Amino acid sequence: MSLRFNAISNLLSSEVNVQGSKKITAIFGENVFTQNVARQFLSDEAYKSLVSSSKSGQKIDRSMANQIANGIRAWAESKGVTHFTHWFQPLTGTTAEKHDSFFTIKSDGTPIEQFDGDALIQQEPDASSFPSGGLRVTFEARGYTAWDPSSPAFIIEIGQGSTLCIPTIFVSYTGESLDYKAPLLKALEALNKAAVDVCNYFDKNITRVTATLGWEQEYFVIDEGLHNARPDLVLCGRTVYGHASAKGQQLEDHYFGSIPERVYAFMRDYEEEAYKLGIPLRTRHNEVAPAQFECAPIFEEVNLAVDHNTLLMDIMNRVSNRHNLRVLLHEKPFAGINGSGKHNNWSMATDTGVNLLAPGKTPKTNLMFLTFFVNTIKAVHDYSDVMRASIASAQNDHRLGANEAPPAIISVFTGQYLTKVLQDIKARVTAKMDETDESMLKIDIHKSIPELLLDNTDRNRTSPFAFTGNKFEFRAVGSSANCANAMTILNVIVAETLKQFKKDVDALIEKGEKKEIAIMHVIREYIVSSEKVLFEGDGYSEAWEKEAEKRGLPNVKTTPLALDAMVTKKAKALFEDNNVYTHAELEARHEIELEKYIKKVQIESRIMGELATSHILPAAIRYQNVLANNIKGLKDAGLKESAFANQKQILEKISEHINSLSDLVEKMIEARKVCNNMDNTRTKAIAYCSQVKEGFFDKIRYHADKLELLVDDREWYLPKYRELLFLR
Ligand code: ADP
Ligand code: MG
Repeated sequence: MSLRFNAISNLLSSEVNVQGSKKITAIFGENVFTQNVARQFLSDEAYKSLVSSSKSGQKIDRSMANQIANGIRAWAESKGVTHFTHWFQPLTGTTAEKHDSFFTIKSDGTPIEQFDGDALIQQEPDASSFPSGGLRVTFEARGYTAWDPSSPAFIIEIGQGSTLCIPTIFVSYTGESLDYKAPLLKALEALNKAAVDVCNYFDKNITRVTATLGWEQEYFVIDEGLHNARPDLVLCGRTVYGHASAKGQQLEDHYFGSIPERVYAFMRDYEEEAYKLGIPLRTRHNEVAPAQFECAPIFEEVNLAVDHNTLLMDIMNRVSNRHNLRVLLHEKPFAGINGSGKHNNWSMATDTGVNLLAPGKTPKTNLMFLTFFVNTIKAVHDYSDVMRASIASAQNDHRLGANEAPPAIISVFTGQYLTKVLQDIKARVTAKMDETDESMLKIDIHKSIPELLLDNTDRNRTSPFAFTGNKFEFRAVGSSANCANAMTILNVIVAETLKQFKKDVDALIEKGEKKEIAIMHVIREYIVSSEKVLFEGDGYSEAWEKEAEKRGLPNVKTTPLALDAMVTKKAKALFEDNNVYTHAELEARHEIELEKYIKKVQIESRIMGELATSHILPAAIRYQNVLANNIKGLKDAGLKESAFANQKQILEKISEHINSLSDLVEKMIEARKVCNNMDNTRTKAIAYCSQVKEGFFDKIRYHADKLELLVDDREWYLPKYRELLFLR
């Protein structure tokens, strides 16, 4: 029996694996070395040193490292931990760990458990196989991991074993970043500096600004048996074939419906693991597509939120296996069905407790809000190409602009009310405005905003970057992406814009302008110069594509071209001035992303060829024989042509599709060979996109999917969409 039919019959006996439900507050953070825990396990001195490093992101005092490491080990051992690992986020897109045990043998032969400061602070994993874009070749050095004290250590429980994980950055020996975290931390620091400077126009007590992130993770859940019978899902995370199910998402009966029992048990199980790790999950619900779901936490400081999202993706994968389910984090696992995104809700908060994107309660705090609001819009306007690049991946290309996700055009939605405020400022702040005409400073946004903006009706779900009352929501990020990339870019472009803003305002103040009026003038100028990025209409419509083109907004639909924005002169200046990436690092990253793209398309193309040749064609040919024998038999028995006319018609169709399919597969292999001989990575990526993917994927799929409908169901070994999406 085929894997497909096996999996379907196994479903009948699949059990719902229900866990006892625990009170969240009883377990929340129990596997995290929180400040409270640190208090218990560390001396006063060591505790203070740890807290100050975790706040400032400064390196830990070397003399304290041994004490802190001992404290962390004592805590971990009290929870049955025997091994530790530096946990990091290499550019492969997954997380990496290399476990070492505390166990060691002293020079006199005594076995002991030990974890010293050096092991805590820095390690040199033999990680030469992680992508470095040539950096380590150029600099002839290995990579090492270094502790990031701003994210707390935690314990991962896998099966019976528990491992202490130290969040780290991953850099080359000469300091180039090789991961997602190192540049993110730098971007956050750039934002902090720039934002504090601007905040001080309004409030001198503000000394720190942290960016905040609340992600919304979308995903599919399918039965593991069915998953394993689809080599394309196993290897690419998406189906490269599959005829649409008679019922898809047209009834929208899954959206916010009751959660299926087996999935519910899985959710509760992964949530429990997440809570233990201090991941503050808050919501869970069904999404629009069948078998699609979403979860979201309470927002946190960006670095921690990114760690938590990365960790959660791991946990979901692991826990789903316990339930004989599979989580699909891919952006587009099924054609014709909504894909998955990861909305990044983003804002900035001061150490005085103010959300800088929440309209204020007084005219003065409103001006502060307006300043950050308009600077963000200007940043997106000026660097929309870099933002587009930050979300570019082979997977996300299937989703952006696919009538369920925002288009590849980056625009900003502000909502009716703020659109009006911006227009007012533009019209009323004039060159002649002086101290006697401060009416503009008195616009009391606060009164009308909360009701208007926090109301769901004023949401635009088709915008890639929407203001939602007290935060911006970057909606174009892909579901499988590490949000660090999008967050690094967003924070650095806002930092850069704020720096310019400060210069512009200071210049007017130097000319004798009053501070508030100077600010108002610069705000007006920024509104005017970035107006074209504002769009309130339907982002999915064709009309918008045309309008955007008229406005001169970029609309880059494919990853290899979108990535160009990372290495423009402008981008290099941006990243270098803000100390986020050097030229060499940018070039390396560009190379790595292109290579990732090539590999993804290459693997998909191979699996398409393989499945066509070894699954689909054999099934079609078997059925072709059945029909041919049938026709021959009827003919031999002396029946009239009309008796087997229909069989003949089906046979003709099947034969046509068989020929076309096998023809196209051969041609695709040839196209791949041509691409593989190209030396320049960018040219190769572009060729893979246009010659292999765009040249063949849809065409090949068309014939395969037609055959799926024509061939005897019993001959078809790949689980069908209706089974993948509706059976569990
Ligand atoms: P929605 O209407 O989009 O569901 P929610 O209020 O539920 O809005 O928020 C969605 C996500 O945005 C949650 O993860 C939430 O924690 C996050 N969020 C709310 N406020 C902020 C903020 N100031 N900064 C970052 N994220 C935020
Ligand atoms: Mg949302």
